[in-house]
Amino acid sequence: MQRSPDRGNRIIAQGEGSSFAGIYLGFDRGWTVNHCVKKLIAWYDHDHRLLPWRQTRDIYHTWVCEVMSQQTTLAVVVPKFSEFVKQIPTVDELATCNEEKLRQLWSGLGYYARARNLKKGAQFIVEQLEGCFPQSYREWLEIPGCGPYTAAVIASICFNEKVACVDGNVVRVVSRLLALSQDVWSSSGQSTIQASVTRMIPEERPGDFNQAMMELGATVCRKTKPYCHMCPLQEECLAFANNCVDICPPKKPRRDAVKVELFALLVWRKATDTLAVVDRTKGFLSNTIGFPLISEVEASEAKRVLKLLPHLQLFELPSKFSHAITHHRISGKILVAQEVETLSITAGIVPWQILVPQPFHWVERSDIASKLSTSLDNKVFKLFQKYYDG
Ligand code: SF4
Repeated sequence: MQRSPDRGNRIIAQGEGSSFAGIYLGFDRGWTVNHCVKKLIAWYDHDHRLLPWRQTRDIYHTWVCEVMSQQTTLAVVVPKFSEFVKQIPTVDELATCNEEKLRQLWSGLGYYARARNLKKGAQFIVEQLEGCFPQSYREWLEIPGCGPYTAAVIASICFNEKVACVDGNVVRVVSRLLALSQDVWSSSGQSTIQASVTRMIPEERPGDFNQAMMELGATVCRKTKPYCHMCPLQEECLAFANNCVDICPPKKPRRDAVKVELFALLVWRKATDTLAVVDRTKGFLSNTIGFPLISEVEASEAKRVLKLLPHLQLFELPSKFSHAITHHRISGKILVAQEVETLSITAGIVPWQILVPQPFHWVERSDIASKLSTSLDNKVFKLFQKYYDG
Protein backbone atom coordinates (compact mmCIF):
# COMPACT_ATOMS: atom_id res chain seq x y z
CA MET A 1 0.00 0.00 0.00
CA GLN A 2 1.28 3.50 -0.69
CA ARG A 3 0.10 6.97 0.01
CA SER A 4 -0.75 9.04 -3.00
CA PRO A 5 1.90 11.78 -3.22
CA ASP A 6 -0.58 14.40 -4.38
CA ARG A 7 -3.40 13.46 -2.05
CA GLY A 8 -1.99 13.83 1.43
CA ASN A 9 -2.78 10.81 3.52
CA ARG A 10 -5.29 9.23 1.12
CA ILE A 11 -4.59 5.56 0.74
CA ILE A 12 -4.23 4.19 -2.75
CA ALA A 13 -3.93 0.49 -3.41
CA GLN A 14 -1.10 -0.13 -5.86
CA GLY A 15 -2.76 -3.06 -7.51
CA GLU A 16 -0.10 -5.73 -7.95
CA GLY A 17 -0.78 -8.37 -5.37
CA SER A 18 -3.77 -6.55 -3.96
CA SER A 19 -7.14 -8.17 -4.18
CA PHE A 20 -10.60 -7.78 -2.92
CA ALA A 21 -10.10 -10.83 -0.71
CA GLY A 22 -9.88 -8.95 2.52
CA ILE A 23 -6.43 -7.42 2.35
CA TYR A 24 -7.62 -3.83 2.31
CA LEU A 25 -11.26 -3.97 3.11
CA GLY A 26 -10.82 -6.63 5.77
CA PHE A 27 -7.85 -5.19 7.64
CA ASP A 28 -8.14 -1.48 7.11
CA ARG A 29 -11.84 -0.88 7.16
CA GLY A 30 -13.30 -3.78 9.01
CA TRP A 31 -15.47 -5.06 6.16
CA THR A 32 -15.42 -8.52 4.68
CA VAL A 33 -15.85 -9.49 1.09
CA ASN A 34 -18.92 -11.54 1.96
CA HIS A 35 -20.50 -8.51 3.55
CA CYS A 36 -19.94 -6.46 0.37
CA VAL A 37 -21.21 -9.20 -1.90
CA LYS A 38 -24.38 -9.64 0.14
CA LYS A 39 -25.08 -5.92 0.00
CA LEU A 40 -24.43 -5.85 -3.72
CA ILE A 41 -26.76 -8.76 -4.47
CA ALA A 42 -29.47 -7.37 -2.19
CA TRP A 43 -29.26 -4.08 -4.09
CA TYR A 44 -29.41 -5.95 -7.41
CA ASP A 45 -32.46 -7.96 -6.32
CA HIS A 46 -34.25 -4.77 -5.47
CA ASP A 47 -33.07 -2.31 -8.11
CA HIS A 48 -32.06 -4.11 -11.28
CA ARG A 49 -33.60 -3.16 -14.60
CA LEU A 50 -36.18 -5.60 -15.91
CA LEU A 51 -34.62 -6.54 -19.21
CA PRO A 52 -36.34 -9.16 -21.39
CA TRP A 53 -33.50 -11.71 -21.14
CA ARG A 54 -33.45 -11.48 -17.35
CA GLN A 55 -36.89 -13.04 -17.03
CA THR A 56 -35.45 -16.53 -17.62
CA ARG A 57 -32.11 -18.33 -17.57
CA ASP A 58 -32.68 -19.61 -21.07
CA ILE A 59 -29.29 -20.43 -22.61
CA TYR A 60 -30.21 -19.36 -26.13
CA HIS A 61 -31.66 -16.04 -24.93
CA THR A 62 -28.64 -15.33 -22.73
CA TRP A 63 -26.27 -16.05 -25.59
CA VAL A 64 -28.14 -13.91 -28.13
CA CYS A 65 -28.55 -10.93 -25.79
CA GLU A 66 -24.92 -11.08 -24.72
CA VAL A 67 -23.67 -10.98 -28.33
CA MET A 68 -26.14 -8.23 -29.23
CA SER A 69 -25.10 -6.10 -26.25
CA GLN A 70 -21.44 -5.94 -27.23
CA GLN A 71 -20.67 -2.36 -28.30
CA THR A 72 -24.37 -1.50 -28.59
CA THR A 73 -26.54 0.43 -26.14
CA LEU A 74 -29.38 -1.33 -24.29
CA ALA A 75 -31.93 1.12 -25.69
CA VAL A 76 -31.14 -0.26 -29.15
CA VAL A 77 -30.72 -3.89 -28.05
CA VAL A 78 -33.99 -4.40 -26.12
CA PRO A 79 -36.48 -4.09 -29.04
CA LYS A 80 -34.09 -5.86 -31.41
CA PHE A 81 -33.63 -8.76 -29.02
CA SER A 82 -37.37 -9.32 -28.59
CA GLU A 83 -37.93 -9.35 -32.35
CA PHE A 84 -34.91 -11.57 -32.98
CA VAL A 85 -35.97 -14.35 -30.59
CA LYS A 86 -39.54 -14.09 -31.85
CA GLN A 87 -38.46 -14.55 -35.47
CA ILE A 88 -35.64 -17.02 -34.72
CA PRO A 89 -36.71 -18.76 -31.52
CA THR A 90 -34.27 -21.70 -31.44
CA VAL A 91 -30.66 -22.54 -32.12
CA ASP A 92 -31.77 -24.92 -34.93
CA GLU A 93 -33.58 -22.10 -36.69
CA LEU A 94 -30.61 -19.79 -36.25
CA ALA A 95 -28.31 -22.41 -37.79
CA THR A 96 -30.44 -22.52 -40.95
CA CYS A 97 -31.63 -18.92 -41.07
CA ASN A 98 -31.06 -17.23 -44.44
CA GLU A 99 -28.61 -14.38 -44.71
CA GLU A 100 -31.15 -11.75 -45.72
CA LYS A 101 -33.39 -12.44 -42.72
CA LEU A 102 -30.43 -12.37 -40.34
CA ARG A 103 -29.17 -9.13 -41.84
CA GLN A 104 -32.59 -7.56 -41.55
CA LEU A 105 -33.03 -8.61 -37.90
CA TRP A 106 -29.56 -7.32 -37.10
CA SER A 107 -29.91 -3.98 -38.89
CA GLY A 108 -29.37 -1.05 -36.55
CA LEU A 109 -27.19 -3.06 -34.16
CA GLY A 110 -24.00 -2.60 -36.21
CA TYR A 111 -21.01 -4.93 -36.44
CA TYR A 112 -22.82 -7.51 -38.56
CA ALA A 113 -19.86 -9.89 -38.13
CA ARG A 114 -21.29 -10.64 -34.67
CA ALA A 115 -24.49 -11.99 -36.25
CA ARG A 116 -22.46 -14.05 -38.67
CA ASN A 117 -20.43 -15.49 -35.78
CA LEU A 118 -23.60 -16.21 -33.84
CA LYS A 119 -24.89 -18.22 -36.78
CA LYS A 120 -21.57 -20.06 -37.13
CA GLY A 121 -21.78 -20.96 -33.44
CA ALA A 122 -25.35 -22.20 -33.90
CA GLN A 123 -24.29 -24.34 -36.87
CA PHE A 124 -21.50 -25.86 -34.78
CA ILE A 125 -23.93 -26.68 -31.97
CA VAL A 126 -26.43 -28.25 -34.35
CA GLU A 127 -23.94 -30.13 -36.53
CA GLN A 128 -21.27 -31.13 -34.01
CA LEU A 129 -23.18 -31.30 -30.73
CA GLU A 130 -26.50 -32.61 -32.02
CA GLY A 131 -28.19 -29.39 -31.02
CA CYS A 132 -27.22 -29.67 -27.33
CA PHE A 133 -25.77 -26.54 -25.76
CA PRO A 134 -22.35 -26.76 -24.07
CA GLN A 135 -22.73 -27.03 -20.30
CA SER A 136 -19.67 -25.24 -18.94
CA TYR A 137 -17.33 -22.27 -19.42
CA ARG A 138 -14.63 -24.49 -20.98
CA GLU A 139 -17.09 -26.08 -23.40
CA TRP A 140 -18.47 -22.70 -24.49
CA LEU A 141 -14.94 -21.57 -25.37
CA GLU A 142 -14.96 -24.28 -28.05
CA ILE A 143 -17.87 -22.64 -29.87
CA PRO A 144 -16.72 -20.61 -32.92
CA GLY A 145 -16.98 -16.89 -32.25
CA CYS A 146 -17.47 -17.31 -28.49
CA GLY A 147 -14.77 -15.53 -26.46
CA PRO A 148 -13.96 -15.75 -22.73
CA TYR A 149 -16.33 -12.95 -21.77
CA THR A 150 -19.38 -14.43 -23.54
CA ALA A 151 -18.53 -17.90 -22.20
CA ALA A 152 -18.28 -16.48 -18.67
CA VAL A 153 -21.64 -14.70 -18.92
CA ILE A 154 -23.42 -17.85 -20.12
CA ALA A 155 -21.66 -20.22 -17.71
CA SER A 156 -22.26 -18.07 -14.63
CA ILE A 157 -25.86 -17.13 -15.41
CA CYS A 158 -27.12 -20.42 -16.85
CA PHE A 159 -24.97 -23.00 -15.04
CA ASN A 160 -24.08 -21.21 -11.79
CA GLU A 161 -20.42 -21.60 -12.58
CA LYS A 162 -18.02 -19.43 -10.55
CA VAL A 163 -16.33 -17.57 -13.35
CA ALA A 164 -15.78 -13.81 -13.49
CA CYS A 165 -17.27 -11.57 -16.19
CA VAL A 166 -15.08 -8.50 -16.55
CA ASP A 167 -16.28 -5.78 -18.88
CA GLY A 168 -15.47 -2.06 -18.87
CA ASN A 169 -18.13 -1.40 -16.21
CA VAL A 170 -16.67 -4.01 -13.87
CA VAL A 171 -13.14 -2.68 -14.38
CA ARG A 172 -14.36 0.75 -13.30
CA VAL A 173 -16.24 -0.51 -10.22
CA VAL A 174 -13.34 -2.64 -8.95
CA SER A 175 -10.71 -0.02 -9.57
CA ARG A 176 -12.77 2.45 -7.54
CA LEU A 177 -13.61 0.02 -4.74
CA LEU A 178 -9.89 -0.64 -4.35
CA ALA A 179 -8.75 2.84 -5.37
CA LEU A 180 -6.27 1.26 -7.74
CA SER A 181 -3.65 3.61 -9.09
CA GLN A 182 -2.13 1.19 -11.59
CA ASP A 183 -2.97 1.17 -15.29
CA VAL A 184 -5.99 -1.15 -15.16
CA TRP A 185 -6.09 -1.34 -18.97
CA SER A 186 -2.66 -2.97 -19.22
CA SER A 187 -2.42 -6.76 -19.15
CA SER A 188 -1.13 -6.76 -15.56
CA GLY A 189 -3.94 -4.37 -14.58
CA GLN A 190 -6.50 -6.64 -16.23
CA SER A 191 -5.05 -9.61 -14.32
CA THR A 192 -5.43 -7.71 -11.05
CA ILE A 193 -9.07 -6.92 -11.81
CA GLN A 194 -9.80 -10.47 -12.97
CA ALA A 195 -8.21 -11.92 -9.83
CA SER A 196 -10.10 -9.51 -7.57
CA VAL A 197 -13.47 -10.30 -9.14
CA THR A 198 -12.74 -14.03 -9.13
CA ARG A 199 -12.11 -13.91 -5.38
CA MET A 200 -15.31 -12.00 -4.81
CA ILE A 201 -17.62 -14.43 -6.63
CA PRO A 202 -19.88 -16.17 -4.14
CA GLU A 203 -20.63 -19.92 -4.21
CA GLU A 204 -24.31 -19.15 -4.52
CA ARG A 205 -25.69 -17.03 -7.30
CA PRO A 206 -22.45 -16.32 -9.22
CA GLY A 207 -24.50 -15.25 -12.25
CA ASP A 208 -26.46 -12.71 -10.25
CA PHE A 209 -23.23 -11.44 -8.72
CA ASN A 210 -21.72 -10.89 -12.20
CA GLN A 211 -24.87 -9.17 -13.39
CA ALA A 212 -24.95 -7.02 -10.24
CA MET A 213 -21.37 -5.83 -10.82
CA MET A 214 -22.14 -4.96 -14.44
CA GLU A 215 -25.40 -3.29 -13.46
CA LEU A 216 -23.73 -1.23 -10.74
CA GLY A 217 -21.15 0.00 -13.25
CA ALA A 218 -23.77 0.76 -15.89
CA THR A 219 -26.30 2.56 -13.71
CA VAL A 220 -24.62 3.88 -10.54
CA CYS A 221 -20.83 3.77 -10.72
CA ARG A 222 -20.92 5.57 -14.04
CA LYS A 223 -17.87 6.77 -15.92
CA THR A 224 -18.61 10.41 -15.21
CA LYS A 225 -20.63 11.75 -12.29
CA PRO A 226 -21.23 8.42 -10.52
CA TYR A 227 -24.22 8.32 -8.16
CA CYS A 228 -22.18 7.55 -5.04
CA HIS A 229 -25.03 8.70 -2.79
CA MET A 230 -27.14 5.81 -4.16
CA CYS A 231 -24.39 3.18 -4.14
CA PRO A 232 -24.81 0.06 -1.99
CA LEU A 233 -21.01 -0.13 -1.57
CA GLN A 234 -20.35 3.46 -0.67
CA GLU A 235 -19.19 2.62 2.87
CA GLU A 236 -16.68 0.10 1.57
CA CYS A 237 -15.45 2.08 -1.42
CA LEU A 238 -11.85 3.21 -0.98
CA ALA A 239 -12.00 5.74 -3.81
CA PHE A 240 -15.04 7.38 -2.18
CA ALA A 241 -13.43 7.32 1.28
CA ASN A 242 -10.30 8.91 -0.10
CA ASN A 243 -12.07 11.39 -2.32
CA CYS A 244 -10.35 10.14 -5.45
CA VAL A 245 -13.30 8.77 -7.45
CA ASP A 246 -12.52 11.25 -10.21
CA ILE A 247 -9.08 9.75 -10.86
CA CYS A 248 -10.13 6.08 -10.66
CA PRO A 249 -9.57 4.28 -12.88
CA PRO A 250 -6.62 6.17 -14.34
CA LYS A 251 -7.32 7.19 -17.93
CA LYS A 252 -6.10 4.93 -20.69
CA PRO A 253 -2.68 6.17 -21.85
CA ARG A 254 -3.14 8.13 -25.07
CA ARG A 255 -1.72 6.60 -28.20
CA ASP A 256 -0.10 8.84 -30.78
CA ALA A 257 -2.57 9.85 -33.47
CA VAL A 258 -2.16 8.08 -36.81
CA LYS A 259 -3.21 10.04 -39.90
CA VAL A 260 -5.11 8.07 -42.53
CA GLU A 261 -6.06 9.33 -45.98
CA LEU A 262 -8.62 7.40 -47.96
CA PHE A 263 -11.38 7.55 -50.52
CA ALA A 264 -14.94 6.39 -49.98
CA LEU A 265 -16.18 4.88 -53.23
CA LEU A 266 -19.87 5.32 -53.96
CA VAL A 267 -20.81 3.07 -56.85
CA TRP A 268 -24.23 4.25 -57.90
CA ARG A 269 -26.67 2.60 -60.32
CA LYS A 270 -28.74 5.56 -61.22
CA ALA A 271 -31.40 3.53 -63.06
CA THR A 272 -32.38 1.64 -59.91
CA ASP A 273 -31.06 4.26 -57.46
CA THR A 274 -28.98 1.65 -55.67
CA LEU A 275 -25.52 1.87 -54.13
CA ALA A 276 -22.88 -0.83 -53.61
CA VAL A 277 -22.26 -1.78 -49.99
CA VAL A 278 -19.59 -4.15 -48.67
CA ASP A 279 -19.14 -6.21 -45.49
CA ARG A 280 -15.70 -5.18 -44.37
CA THR A 281 -14.26 -8.40 -43.05
CA LYS A 282 -10.68 -7.27 -42.56
CA GLY A 283 -8.41 -4.25 -42.50
CA PHE A 284 -9.48 -0.79 -41.51
CA LEU A 285 -12.99 -0.69 -39.95
CA SER A 286 -13.23 -4.47 -40.18
CA ASN A 287 -16.51 -6.08 -39.12
CA THR A 288 -18.60 -3.16 -40.31
CA ILE A 289 -20.94 -2.57 -43.23
CA GLY A 290 -20.50 0.40 -45.49
CA PHE A 291 -19.08 1.85 -48.67
CA PRO A 292 -15.85 0.49 -50.13
CA LEU A 293 -12.89 2.41 -48.68
CA ILE A 294 -9.91 2.60 -50.97
CA SER A 295 -6.42 4.06 -50.91
CA GLU A 296 -5.13 6.80 -53.17
CA VAL A 297 -3.37 4.18 -55.33
CA GLU A 298 -6.61 2.20 -55.69
CA ALA A 299 -8.49 5.41 -56.52
CA SER A 300 -6.00 6.16 -59.34
CA GLU A 301 -6.46 2.63 -60.62
CA ALA A 302 -10.26 3.04 -60.52
CA LYS A 303 -9.94 6.25 -62.55
CA ARG A 304 -7.76 4.45 -65.10
CA VAL A 305 -10.23 1.57 -65.41
CA LEU A 306 -13.19 3.90 -65.76
CA LYS A 307 -11.60 5.66 -68.74
CA LEU A 308 -11.97 2.33 -70.58
CA LEU A 309 -15.67 2.08 -69.80
CA PRO A 310 -17.50 4.87 -71.66
CA HIS A 311 -20.87 4.14 -70.06
CA LEU A 312 -19.45 4.83 -66.58
CA GLN A 313 -18.30 8.10 -65.06
CA LEU A 314 -16.07 8.66 -62.08
CA PHE A 315 -15.76 11.98 -60.36
CA GLU A 316 -14.73 13.39 -57.04
CA LEU A 317 -17.20 15.31 -54.88
CA PRO A 318 -16.00 18.77 -53.87
CA SER A 319 -16.79 18.06 -50.18
CA LYS A 320 -14.28 16.21 -48.06
CA PHE A 321 -14.87 14.51 -44.74
CA SER A 322 -12.85 13.98 -41.60
CA HIS A 323 -13.39 11.41 -38.91
CA ALA A 324 -11.67 10.11 -35.78
CA ILE A 325 -11.75 6.48 -34.66
CA THR A 326 -9.69 5.57 -31.61
CA HIS A 327 -6.27 7.01 -32.45
CA HIS A 328 -6.86 7.20 -36.22
CA ARG A 329 -7.45 10.65 -37.71
CA ILE A 330 -9.07 10.12 -41.09
CA SER A 331 -9.28 12.65 -43.85
CA GLY A 332 -11.26 11.43 -46.79
CA LYS A 333 -12.52 12.25 -50.24
CA ILE A 334 -15.56 10.84 -51.97
CA LEU A 335 -15.45 9.23 -55.40
CA VAL A 336 -18.74 8.60 -57.15
CA ALA A 337 -18.88 6.02 -59.94
CA GLN A 338 -22.14 6.19 -61.83
CA GLU A 339 -23.49 4.78 -65.03
CA VAL A 340 -24.42 7.23 -67.72
CA GLU A 341 -26.56 4.73 -69.55
CA THR A 342 -27.98 1.38 -68.55
CA LEU A 343 -25.10 -0.97 -68.09
CA SER A 344 -24.68 -3.81 -70.51
CA ILE A 345 -22.73 -6.84 -69.45
CA THR A 346 -22.65 -8.35 -72.91
CA ALA A 347 -18.96 -7.52 -73.19
CA GLY A 348 -18.39 -10.47 -70.88
CA ILE A 349 -17.13 -8.58 -67.85
CA VAL A 350 -19.01 -6.97 -65.02
CA PRO A 351 -17.35 -3.59 -64.57
CA TRP A 352 -18.76 -3.08 -61.08
CA GLN A 353 -16.65 -5.98 -59.91
CA ILE A 354 -13.56 -4.43 -61.41
CA LEU A 355 -14.23 -1.32 -59.37
CA VAL A 356 -15.15 -3.10 -56.14
CA PRO A 357 -13.00 -6.19 -55.76
CA GLN A 358 -14.64 -7.17 -52.46
CA PRO A 359 -18.01 -9.00 -52.48
CA PHE A 360 -20.73 -6.36 -52.41
CA HIS A 361 -24.49 -6.08 -52.59
CA TRP A 362 -26.80 -3.41 -53.92
CA VAL A 363 -28.92 -1.43 -51.48
CA GLU A 364 -31.66 1.00 -52.47
CA ARG A 365 -30.78 4.57 -51.61
CA SER A 366 -34.00 5.00 -49.62
CA ASP A 367 -32.98 2.07 -47.41
CA ILE A 368 -29.29 2.60 -47.09
CA ALA A 369 -29.16 4.66 -43.88
CA SER A 370 -30.48 1.69 -41.89
CA LYS A 371 -27.82 -0.63 -43.33
CA LEU A 372 -24.72 1.47 -42.71
CA SER A 373 -23.01 0.51 -39.48
CA THR A 374 -20.55 3.32 -38.85
CA SER A 375 -20.88 7.06 -38.40
CA LEU A 376 -18.14 7.51 -41.02
CA ASP A 377 -20.38 5.89 -43.66
CA ASN A 378 -23.35 7.98 -42.56
CA LYS A 379 -21.25 11.12 -42.89
CA VAL A 380 -20.21 10.13 -46.41
CA PHE A 381 -23.79 9.32 -47.37
CA LYS A 382 -25.07 12.68 -46.11
CA LEU A 383 -22.48 14.52 -48.23
CA PHE A 384 -23.53 12.47 -51.24
CA GLN A 385 -27.23 13.28 -50.61
CA LYS A 386 -26.48 16.95 -50.11
CA TYR A 387 -24.57 17.12 -53.38
CA TYR A 388 -27.36 15.50 -55.41
CA ASP A 389 -30.50 16.62 -53.62
CA GLY A 390 -29.31 19.93 -52.17
S1 SF4 B 1 -19.17 4.75 -3.97
FE1 SF4 B 1 -19.16 5.78 -5.91
S2 SF4 B 1 -17.19 5.32 -6.81
FE2 SF4 B 1 -17.48 3.88 -5.13
S3 SF4 B 1 -18.32 2.06 -6.11
FE3 SF4 B 1 -20.04 3.31 -5.41
S4 SF4 B 1 -20.62 4.60 -7.17
FE4 SF4 B 1 -18.56 3.76 -7.53
